[in-house]
Amino acid sequence: MSEVRTTASGEAGRLSAVRGAISEAARAVGRDPAGVALVAVSKTQPAEMIIPLLDLGQRIFGENRVQEAKGKWPGLREHYSGIEMRLIGPLQTNKVRDALSVFDVIETVDRERLALALAEEGSRIGRMPRCYVQVNTGEESQKAGVIPRALEALLEYCRETCQLPVEGLMCIPPVDEEPALHFALLAELARRHGLPYLSMGMSADFAEAVRFGATSVRIGTALFGERAGPALVP
Ligand SMILES: *Cc1c(COP(=O)(O)O)cnc(C)c1O
Repeated sequence: MSEVRTTASGEAGRLSAVRGAISEAARAVGRDPAGVALVAVSKTQPAEMIIPLLDLGQRIFGENRVQEAKGKWPGLREHYSGIEMRLIGPLQTNKVRDALSVFDVIETVDRERLALALAEEGSRIGRMPRCYVQVNTGEESQKAGVIPRALEALLEYCRETCQLPVEGLMCIPPVDEEPALHFALLAELARRHGLPYLSMGMSADFAEAVRFGATSVRIGTALFGERAGPALVP
């Protein structure tokens, strides 16, 4: 990827390198780069690390923990308009109220009880969250997400019983497998169920995900550098 400026230092360089690589991957398969949203994954990053990206115009952010997001984002939202927050980590039903106070999009719907809780809270506050269903494409026992063969029933439950707007699918491929297989599977599942959005691809594999049709990529390390502390990818 010739457009990636590996020597770029600082957020501006990293942001333009990532945007450039997304555009290049999109154009390589005849896609409009504008059809791929960049979700900046700001988990574990303090506000000082996030502000430069906001100043550069980045507006879509992903966090994987409700409490952490609740602590950081209300303050930032006072100073920047047009922010879209996406929850990309597992959500417990007892945190749904808190989650909807911070997040605009929930990417990790993976069971009926959670879908119902989201729909109930959405109607209580008069604002349904945009939702993605997380698919456990690798059928890994430790990983969140609905397994592919249970997807249809869950989508039907979301649509028919809950009137919860599901707009797409999300996946996190197994670390030790070829991600392309999982991206292809997720794209096929979305096509089969008439879902227009695909959240897939992280720092290591986002170009591949874009080639397979990702409409949003979730990128942390390539924008912020290595995270301190234990890896939080579930
Ligand atoms: C942390 C995380 C990412 C970003 O991972 P990087 O490799 O740092 O880009 C993407 N998606 C999910 C669900 C995550 O938890």
